[in-house]
This record gives sequence, structure tokens and C-alpha cells, in this order.
Amino acid sequence: MDEAELKKFIENSKVTREKTLEFLKKDLIDKKFSLESWKSPKDNPNWSHDHCEICNKEISNLEDVENEAYTDEGGFYWICNACFKIYQKSLGLD
Ligand SMILES: [Zn+2]
Repeated sequence: MDEAELKKFIENSKVTREKTLEFLKKDLIDKKFSLESWKSPKDNPNWSHDHCEICNKEISNLEDVENEAYTDEGGFYWICNACFKIYQKSLGLD
């Protein structure tokens, strides 16, 4: 990847990130988030992991990945520690 391609890639990632945040913000209105240890959903014990809604980082109870993250009361959305700190305000989660 040359420098121009890299610049374009970074710019596209930024646009994608902004769109993700825009959609998330609508979804997350009125949802309460708290820091939880990841576990598979009660109704789906074979569920192995989730991904951060923003950066796609893997969150599960396995070694070498994030084991704790912020989740809503239904355990549907997961946001990693780093992203929660950065985007908490812009997502209206404070
Ligand atoms: Zn993240």
C-alpha cells in the first residue's frame, strides 16, 4: 500500500467509524451500560464470543482477548473498554 492508498484507507475508515457511531447512537438511546465479564447468553450457551460494536475487537471469556466490556442490560450490545472511554460522551452513554 503506498502513501496515497494509505491516506485513502484511513479516510474511508474514518467515514465508516462516523457512520457506525451515528447508527449506534440511535440504537443505544435509553439503554443503560455497565462493565461486565463476558459470558454466553442464557438462552444460547453455545454462543462463543461477541465483538465490540465500534472497533470489532473480540470479547469473550477466552484467554488473550478482552474478557470485560460494557454491555446493555439485555447483553445484546458490547463495547470494549477503550471505545467506551473514547465514545461514551458522543454516544450519550454518560
Ligand atoms: Zn472497541
